[in-house]
Amino acid sequence: MMPFEKCPVCGGELKEKEVEKLLRGGNHTATLRVHAEVCLHCGERLYAEETVRFFEQIRNKLKRQELLDFQPLGQSFTVDANWLNAANAADARTSRG
Ligand SMILES: [Zn+2]
Repeated sequence: MMPFEKCPVCGGELKEKEVEKLLRGGNHTATLRVHAEVCLHCGERLYAEETVRFFEQIRNKLKRQELLDFQPLGQSFTVDANWLNAANAADARTSRG
């Protein structure tokens, strides 16, 4: 079923695992657990062709705001650079004591 016997990136051994995949479409994201062949050496994930098609369908639904099939799972946020700079500056101050 899988097109690869070995990792196409590094030639490492592949093992089937259940992994969490994050998909994004427009401003929405969805996570799902799917089976993938995971490289034991470099961590590369390979998905079956039908799984990749399924990802594409989900991304399109997210993009078109067709969200009825999905369960809300908290909110997603983006962290802007200004906040990050301010937080880093605060850290630097506290670490100097
Ligand atoms: Zn690999």
